[in-house]
Amino acid sequence: MGEGSARSLLGMDREELAALVSEAGEPAYRAKQIMDAVYRQRAESLAEISTLPQEFRERLAESGVSVGAARIEKKFESVDGTVRYLIGFGDGQSVETVWMPEGDGGEAGDGSEAGELAEEVPSLRDSVESSTGSPGTAVPGFHVPPPSGLESRGASSVPSNLKERARSIGRSTICISSQVGCAVDCQFCLTALLGVKRNLTAGEIVGQVCAVLKDQGVSPPEDRINLVFMGMGEPFLNYDNFIKASRLLVEAVGIAERRMTVSTAGIVPRIRDFGEEKIRPKLAISLNASNDELRTRLMPLNKKWNLEMLLAAAREFPLRTREWITFEYVLLGGVNDLPANAREVAELLRGLRCKVNLIALNPGPGIEFTTPGAERVTEFQNILRGAGIPAFVRRPRGRDIYAACGQLKRTVEVATSPELQLQGISPLAPEA
Ligand code: SAH
Repeated sequence: MGEGSARSLLGMDREELAALVSEAGEPAYRAKQIMDAVYRQRAESLAEISTLPQEFRERLAESGVSVGAARIEKKFESVDGTVRYLIGFGDGQSVETVWMPEGDGGEAGDGSEAGELAEEVPSLRDSVESSTGSPGTAVPGFHVPPPSGLESRGASSVPSNLKERARSIGRSTICISSQVGCAVDCQFCLTALLGVKRNLTAGEIVGQVCAVLKDQGVSPPEDRINLVFMGMGEPFLNYDNFIKASRLLVEAVGIAERRMTVSTAGIVPRIRDFGEEKIRPKLAISLNASNDELRTRLMPLNKKWNLEMLLAAAREFPLRTREWITFEYVLLGGVNDLPANAREVAELLRGLRCKVNLIALNPGPGIEFTTPGAERVTEFQNILRGAGIPAFVRRPRGRDIYAACGQLKRTVEVATSPELQLQGISPLAPEA
């Protein structure tokens, strides 16, 4: 423990904590005490770890050890209950983390309770996943009725207490970031405009989850939380830290593997590595185009790893029992949303154990594409379904506060956005 070598407890696994404790000449059980305090009680400072002797805490502090908790700098709340957090780290950098109290409609089937039920009872699937609202409109108080039996508290269309609801349904989802900015230059994504500033450490990835759980007053595994690595950044370009964070989230925070999904833009060699991991989230791949020419235009990384390479990796991916690969497809008006594109997608995915999540473009300043109309989206979905591919439309969440897919750009000026003012949508002022 050299002077000046600042070290965070958050991000340390069982072995690292054991080493820290033994170096300090403390009994081995202290490692477990620290683990519980940091990941379960979500202590934010050494002072809060009251299970440790004061004298040991002082020695830790003197040697440059701190909890390294993530700080909520700002908080924006959407009319639909979604909360976008701006979370800051020691070096002044920040990322965004999103809380979706009713989950992400498109992730049902990826581990959420409603999705599991829907998988077993096909007739419910339509009631849960295809009634996803009309893309292109952020509907205040929009509410997807859960399958009967899941909700015991009456069926008011606007839940009076979202947190209570989330507890009863177990569909809440946290969307976390893996990098500050992103290096993958997807033409329709706002995060891409930032470029990449740096990778997050495992502690910073887990720290986002701890900060949000604490703020929302929920605690896995009692509260069933879904987690998606779909915020800022490309998780597979920060692979080791992402994998370490996933393990900590399972082993220390208590979120089940099957409740986590990671999305990649298609870093093919890492998809292969990922398949070999003992503990891992489920896999989602951002497809977004139906042929190489189009995909290269929209996602320049397709030049390096084209559709043939990507789909080969997907076909060879070792799926677990009842596991499916999710393909995400952002629909861009008149660009990749034509019936011919849908037929090409169906052809590409033929024979794969997969489902497709369709996402109508979430608009943003500097993004030149348009959001297709609801009929276009439904037509695309129907063509895929007709070809035997389960296809769902992901409900836009928190568009009014720039919290939806592809909108994460550390936007703090949402309240003054003329576009949103025109729509009469004005998010609540930041609380934090
Ligand atoms: N880098 C990873 C993780 C980000 S996930 C990845 O690319 O998969 C974000 C998802 O939102 C991706 O599927 C991406 O294609 C999609 N997306 C990006 N910009 C979007 C936008 N403007 N509207 C809707 N979806 C978008």
